[in-house]
Amino acid sequence: MTYDVPFIRPVFPPATVIAGDWDEIVASNWFTNFGPRERRLAAAVADRIGSGYHAVTFANATIALIGLIGEALGRGDGTRSVAVPSFTFAAGAEAIEWAGYRPVFLDIEAGSLQPSLPEARKLRADLGDELAGVLLCNTFGIGNPAIADWGAWATESGIPLLIDSAAGFGSDYVDGRPVGVAGAAEVFSFHATKPFAIGEGGAVVTRDEDLAQRLRAFQNFGFGPDRAAVGLGLNGKLPELSAAIGLRQLESFDAAVATRRSVVESYRGALEPAGWRFPENIGRSSVCFATVVAPDGETRDAALAALASSRVEARAYYAPVVHRQPRYAVPALDLPVTDDVASRVVSLPVHQDMAEADVARVIGALDAVRSR
Ligand SMILES: *Cc1c(COP(=O)(O)O)cnc(C)c1O
Repeated sequence: MTYDVPFIRPVFPPATVIAGDWDEIVASNWFTNFGPRERRLAAAVADRIGSGYHAVTFANATIALIGLIGEALGRGDGTRSVAVPSFTFAAGAEAIEWAGYRPVFLDIEAGSLQPSLPEARKLRADLGDELAGVLLCNTFGIGNPAIADWGAWATESGIPLLIDSAAGFGSDYVDGRPVGVAGAAEVFSFHATKPFAIGEGGAVVTRDEDLAQRLRAFQNFGFGPDRAAVGLGLNGKLPELSAAIGLRQLESFDAAVATRRSVVESYRGALEPAGWRFPENIGRSSVCFATVVAPDGETRDAALAALASSRVEARAYYAPVVHRQPRYAVPALDLPVTDDVASRVVSLPVHQDMAEADVARVIGALDAVRSR
């Protein structure tokens, strides 16, 4: 089925602009391996987060997560666990496994849809030292409103806090600080589906210079200074052409985020009075898409059908949740909030510079559901 309003529609710089960049890359004969554009992009990403932060770019966020978990916690032998929400994208659990740990799933808070700190405390009490770390996820790239409490708990319990903020480049926490400042490190994705879209790409942001150095080595075959493998690495580098697209996207990124936030304001104004609930703090995010929670599962199902017949492409993120996907299925695991929310979510398209008529069409489809 083709849709009039696609779920995601990234905006890229004109081909002529990128062609000029490409000509310069060819003239310089430097295509990848930490070239000048990759370095400029890494510096610009770090700069946006704040002084004292280091950014390490990656070919994508999944490799960044694998590298971060392995370097921050040490590569595991499959016996210890890392906590991760089930209400997120599967890459988190997969990265935990690739780094040698077992994912254990956390329930979420009903209001924020973010991982529950009380549940993490319980898990820590149950597992003791078997819990090696937490992969917090800033759900949908929205800054977790309880991030200060998470930070305090991580410090007091000695549990390293790593954060999957894949869709969160350009988002802010409730205190106004940018997503990227929290935990031991945060990970961004620059996939074409994220607000900051390159195509494929990602970055780790951290204050820990030594960790940043190890992450650069990890993505470059584990090489030490004399191009000899010291640690276990792989190839996870960001090529110059991708960095060039990223640098161009940065030029207009603030304006792009503003247009995405205004779409969410329109959705909220129309839908909140009708009982649709938006995740807390979505208004300070860079708004990858707008996941709304229906009053009940029937309304959700009707909404998905109404959107489809209006030729609007919608999704239900995150359903199925990770602990219901075949690889991770734990039938006995009870995550009541996660399962309840997953039965009630609708994810609405949000585009940069989204046409008013398209916004109206989305709202109209959900209005029809309300008045049935
Ligand atoms: C998109 C996404 C990823 C994966 O990012 P890639 O750059 O595509 O590897 C990981 N975690 C979350 C929460 C995501 O939304």
